Amino acid sequence: MPSKSTARSAGASDSAPEPRPEIALEDLPGIGTTTAEKLRESGYTDLMELAVASPGDVAEAAEIGVAIAQKIIGEARRKADVGGFEPGTTVLERRKRLGRITTNSKAVDELLGGGVETQAITEFSGEFGTGKTQLAHQIAVDVQLPTAQGGLEGEVVYIDTESTFRPERIVDMAKGAGLDPEGALAKIHVARAFNSNHQMLLVAKAQELAREKPIRLLVVDSLTAHFRSEYMGRGELAPRQQHLNRHLHELLRFGDTYNAAIVVTNQVSSRPDILFGDPTRPIGGNIVAHAATYRLYLRKSKPPKRIARLIDSPNLPEGEAVYSLTGEGVRD
Ligand code: ATP
Ligand code: MG
Repeated sequence: MPSKSTARSAGASDSAPEPRPEIALEDLPGIGTTTAEKLRESGYTDLMELAVASPGDVAEAAEIGVAIAQKIIGEARRKADVGGFEPGTTVLERRKRLGRITTNSKAVDELLGGGVETQAITEFSGEFGTGKTQLAHQIAVDVQLPTAQGGLEGEVVYIDTESTFRPERIVDMAKGAGLDPEGALAKIHVARAFNSNHQMLLVAKAQELAREKPIRLLVVDSLTAHFRSEYMGRGELAPRQQHLNRHLHELLRFGDTYNAAIVVTNQVSSRPDILFGDPTRPIGGNIVAHAATYRLYLRKSKPPKRIARLIDSPNLPEGEAVYSLTGEGVRD
């Protein structure tokens, strides 16, 4: 494992693709430093975001006229790598590179079709204390394991929005997994997100890191907490969902580009949410439902047991798995 510490070797590139060269916002005609800064603050971090944005939104974000915004968008569309069509064989090739990370619970792995998948978003939702953060920690350790043991010999980007990342838990879990605790901690790159815009910017930052290190897992714990507290009123549903949507798509793109798994947590409110009255429904409504490939709804059982239920998966049957939260981490 030490051989794979810093720069990604050529040998590893068949599991994680080389990223596309990025064109900066400032490279577009009509965008100076100030405008670029304003756009980035609003979450438009690259050309693709601009290419698919509406002129009204861009005008508002950059405090420019709609006509200028329209021009900028047009230019972004020409310059951005908006993708396009690719043969089914290419899609199949990419799918073949899919990796899976164990949760350390056989039952939960089975529920997910063999573990947490790369190139996909896996959501853990549930009330407080159901194990969302513990699972995120556990997967951050497990991804470092050799493939034969359910890992991807990868490193981790961990976006912590609630200050609940605990290095001590990583140490416990690393010991439980037979990894050197110091080494395990060194491979988890943690950033605290202070608000939702910062959270989105950190995904852009993560791309820089992923060019140097074999990042195979990106955790956002919690995906929705900042969005929820910042957009409180009924009138703010649209902007909240728009930003959340953009965030999720940036996460998905990260997963595709670096063949990384995306794990997000989402608290289910016991208090009815003004926007999503049903207390058993994860926050973020249909936006998260559409973007997340695997959604596990967690609930408490007789301690230390918890129950995970798979909800709306495109290719797996619904089902439940029982797991335990122990001192050494997640267990069956
Ligand atoms: P929240 O919505 O508040 O973020 P969560 O779903 O993220 O909640 P976790 O923090 O993952 O909840 O789980 C907390 C639970 O994990 C504790 O109630 C306890 O059962 C278990 N746990 C945490 N640390 C340990 C430990 N060192 N030993 C045993 N169990 C632990
Ligand atoms: Mg938590």
